[in-house]
Amino acid sequence: MILRSARRLREPGLVDVRVDDGRIVAVAPAGSVPTDDPQGELDLAGRVLLPGFVESHLHLDKAWLGGPPGGAGLAEAIAWTARRKAQFTVADVAERAGRVAELAVAHGTTSVRAHTEVDPGVGLTGVLGVLEVAERLAGRLRVQIAVFPQEGLACRPGTSALVREALRLPGTVVGGCPYVEATPDDARAHVETVLDLAVEHGVPADLHLDLADGVDDPRFLLAEHVARATAERGLQGRVAIGHVTTLAALGRDQRARVLDRLAAAQVAVTLLPATDLHLSGRHDERDVRRGVAPVRDLWAAGVRTALSSNNVRNAFTPTGRADLLDIALLAARVGHVSEQHELDLLVDAVSTVPAALLDVGEPVGLVPGARADLVVLDTTDADAILLDQPARHLVLKAGTVVGGAVVAGTAAAVPAGTTRKAGVPAVTS
Ligand SMILES: [Zn+2]
Repeated sequence: MILRSARRLREPGLVDVRVDDGRIVAVAPAGSVPTDDPQGELDLAGRVLLPGFVESHLHLDKAWLGGPPGGAGLAEAIAWTARRKAQFTVADVAERAGRVAELAVAHGTTSVRAHTEVDPGVGLTGVLGVLEVAERLAGRLRVQIAVFPQEGLACRPGTSALVREALRLPGTVVGGCPYVEATPDDARAHVETVLDLAVEHGVPADLHLDLADGVDDPRFLLAEHVARATAERGLQGRVAIGHVTTLAALGRDQRARVLDRLAAAQVAVTLLPATDLHLSGRHDERDVRRGVAPVRDLWAAGVRTALSSNNVRNAFTPTGRADLLDIALLAARVGHVSEQHELDLLVDAVSTVPAALLDVGEPVGLVPGARADLVVLDTTDADAILLDQPARHLVLKAGTVVGGAVVAGTAAAVPAGTTRKAGVPAVTS
């Protein structure tokens, strides 16, 4: 397949992109790639072409559960969800997870890291439900499961064995949640255990970390510990931490020190603004804290920074459409972002940065060798992607059209290898 006349982020001029066997094999000035099969070409007519969006931190298993009246803080949300988990069945998880996964594809997402809870209460029910969706959507959406002990390891006996069991399933990586442990020592041990499992299984690690309004509780100040433990194990580039809202509460100098350590250990930070805004500052009577790590400080320190939805319509996040352009715009608004090069970095934060977290060491972006996971936006203005939130014109997974406005509502019926000429009227409202 050849995608003709594509516009890229940051780059002047249009290009043709040749795709072979699911990967990009050439990117060249428009018109310079010879035609060998006119039926296998798509004319993008100057529309913006981006690498497919990647949700590196999304909870499919507990999506669409709703939440308690009046909303909840972190502890209440965990407790409320624990009660709902007791009623989970594989079919129920697969139904809710599938709904969100379909939304994600429609919005241009081509890969998801699904943080999926395991504990003696829910067992592997969530994992099996998400696996069912992964199999059902294979070829349209890649789902990598991060096995996630939301209720702790030391404080929830029996969970470690379940984590190990789930890590034997294909396509799984290891997640963590140290702040729920009873003591700072247990929280640090939780970090060590998760990173040891990453080494043992040869997989990346992705921890929920430091999700608090303030800096009083040492269980929520573990970013430097993670950086140190990552470097000690040679896991540089293979560890991500999500939330890290206490970065917003630290003084500027202390924040700079923590960010330097994260950058040196190549620990990535995933910001989850839709959740962090909802959970933070609930008990502040004045100067209400909004709990989102300052993204411009992360960039200035050289910390790889991703953005993700985290949750869709549950006790942690009552909003959401699994639309990463929406999340990136939210991050711009809450992060004092205004300059064009910063808006472009937010696009990276929902595409190339999280892609490198899921597939460490693989080429990412619109470059030869990268997977042809792509999204075409219905705009010719690459500078206004976040501001305009354009429709997703086409979504391609491994070079095959799997979604987008052109095929709205019929993505599942599009046979493998089908190509569509750009310019077909969009059928969505
Ligand atoms: Zn999460």
